[in-house]
Amino acid sequence: MKTELVIDLEAEKKEILKRYRALLRASKSTLQKGDKKEIRKAFDMALESHKDMRRKSGEPYIYHPIAVAQIAAEEIGLGTTSIVCALLHDVVEDTDITLEDIEREFGKKTAKIIDGLTKISGVFDTNSSLQAENFRKMLLTLADDVRVILIKLADRLHNMRTMDFMPRHKQLKIASETIYLYAPLAHRLGLYAIKSELEDLSMKYLEPETYKFIAKKLNEKKAERNLFIKKFVEPIDEIVSEQGLLANVYGRPKSIHSIWNKMKKKNIPFEEVYDLFAIRIILDSPYENEKADCWKAYSIVTDLYRPNPDRLRDWVSSPKGNGYESLHTTVMGPRGQWVEVQIRTQRMNEIAEKGFAAHWKYKESSNDNGLDQWIQKVREMLNNPEANALDFLDDFKMNLFSDEIFIFTPKGALIQLPLGATALDFAFEIHTDVGATCIGAKVNHKLVPISYKLQNGDQVEIITSSKQAPKEDWLNVVVTAKAKSKIKSSLKEEKRKIAETGKEILERKLKSLKITYNTDNLNKISYFFKLSSTQELFIQVALGKIELKDIKEYLVSEKEIETRGPERPENLSVDAIKGKMKGTESDILLIGEDMQKIDYTLAACCNPIPGDDVFGFITVSEGIKIHRTNCPNAAQLMSNYGYRIVKAKWNKQKELTFLTGLRIMGIDDVGLINNITKVISNDFKVNMRSITVDTNEGIFDGSIMIFVNDTEHLEQLIKNLMEVRGVTGVTRFDA
Ligand code: MN
Repeated sequence: MKTELVIDLEAEKKEILKRYRALLRASKSTLQKGDKKEIRKAFDMALESHKDMRRKSGEPYIYHPIAVAQIAAEEIGLGTTSIVCALLHDVVEDTDITLEDIEREFGKKTAKIIDGLTKISGVFDTNSSLQAENFRKMLLTLADDVRVILIKLADRLHNMRTMDFMPRHKQLKIASETIYLYAPLAHRLGLYAIKSELEDLSMKYLEPETYKFIAKKLNEKKAERNLFIKKFVEPIDEIVSEQGLLANVYGRPKSIHSIWNKMKKKNIPFEEVYDLFAIRIILDSPYENEKADCWKAYSIVTDLYRPNPDRLRDWVSSPKGNGYESLHTTVMGPRGQWVEVQIRTQRMNEIAEKGFAAHWKYKESSNDNGLDQWIQKVREMLNNPEANALDFLDDFKMNLFSDEIFIFTPKGALIQLPLGATALDFAFEIHTDVGATCIGAKVNHKLVPISYKLQNGDQVEIITSSKQAPKEDWLNVVVTAKAKSKIKSSLKEEKRKIAETGKEILERKLKSLKITYNTDNLNKISYFFKLSSTQELFIQVALGKIELKDIKEYLVSEKEIETRGPERPENLSVDAIKGKMKGTESDILLIGEDMQKIDYTLAACCNPIPGDDVFGFITVSEGIKIHRTNCPNAAQLMSNYGYRIVKAKWNKQKELTFLTGLRIMGIDDVGLINNITKVISNDFKVNMRSITVDTNEGIFDGSIMIFVNDTEHLEQLIKNLMEVRGVTGVTRFDA
């Protein structure tokens, strides 16, 4: 469908100025002397550089940066630097303006934030490991200046609000990213209002039917619900003011996404979801009375309505890691219906809505800033040079999603851990050495194993032993990224030490057998025992798995080859092989210096297909085996048996097919598998041998074995698969 666009430039100019003035009004509370001028300068620069650009909707592009700046100011509560950065957030990427221009005009800090914003834009591109690497970069900027992420969230929010004009496949991609990453990030940063809106908007595009259904249902009962809320609130309001508390009491609907989550989680229809709204009591209390006033309000509510004793949540005494403070209770309403009541002060409410930025504002008054601790943890994770980017993404995502539990040390200090953390996690949280030597724990004075899953409020004392050391299976016991990385590096260190011992033992053994200790012999011995490296060999020796008698065996086999020595060149030559393989010539592969047609087999370790760079390897009993030059075994074969390597080259052909594997990563949505198999079987007419698929939290990970003609064919297939909606990476793998 095409719509005619009529542009009235004069009217647009007026509208742009109107929006700009609205932005200034929104930022008024934070403006200091000279700030207005900075914002104007940024606005002029953005206006000029985007002047010929329009959004998909046909609107002038400048509407977007203005809106992002407005969200940053109004909904996140950010100040002038952030407003300037938001106005300019797309200029470096999309226009001729450079970072140097920005730095010259607005200074280093602004340039740095915009640099961060520009870098993030590729986070969800190409293959999965690159994506993880980009994500890691994005978090580096977070640890550096959290405003980068906050502006990015404002940008994302505005794009989500104005996505109707995007093509469907883009809507799906953007909505998936949002639900996968941005909404949890907003949650972790304490931006509850933005998190809910991002979730609802994602759902609107990802699950349009369900979204419309719930929205309609909510609307149908709106009047009835409002009446119920009014009646429920009235007596609370009355007594609250009688007791001299200043409070605003109101009902607030829950988000469509959270209602849907509840329906899925409890497997119930819409009609059975009881908490479609929550009651909020927002107190206007001076800082020193906050806690007492919250409990006063709690007492009033529970005098009127009977509370559910299992549903009291006190985040006033122990705020959540993202800074959230509130007192939650669920009480029985007049019609036998459970109603959630949230009690907090205006300060706490602002933190709940604006998250981090509000934290800054109240920083002096909050004595224990959970968010700072969290950012500190992100820093620790990033500082671990051994962490693999994909592992890191996994760990980090888990930490984003999980709820926290609070654990006490024997002396009563409070430690925050993710839900599901074990005694061993706690030990590593206290200190690396405590973790490494942990043999058990006392939880609430009772002895438990290291794998014990901690409960909120547990008091934990760790028991250590100097004889203890980290074990491989500990990795399955812990959930925190910190414990995992510490265990991994300790295991690595342990291996290195064992190898060291093994090396000394082997040196002695070889000496007694009169074998020279050199790289060549070590390689030969490793190869004989089918070990991947000499380090593995040392370890096997240290563990007693390879003994003197085994090495003697090796010696015997070596001698056999030695004594056959003079024969070797003839036996292991192209001509000798050719002689044995009469009548089995094949014309797809040309082998040897003069490119003859000789029979061969394809190595199972790397599954070469026509088009790959290959070489032939003359085996003792199986003729010529063809390997890819980038085969994991190639380096070893070439360096140890150079004389058995022969040239090999593919002859062009189309009739034969070769089995190869593809790994496909993506963001799962309905029909992804269908679309993938459609490309493979219909568009490419390629035969599939097997397909295995793993989906986890919306991430799709599939392995497909297919028959292709050659690399050209394979590359074209990979290209077409990359174009399938939702697919983020396709790589070839070896069986
Ligand atoms: Mn943007």
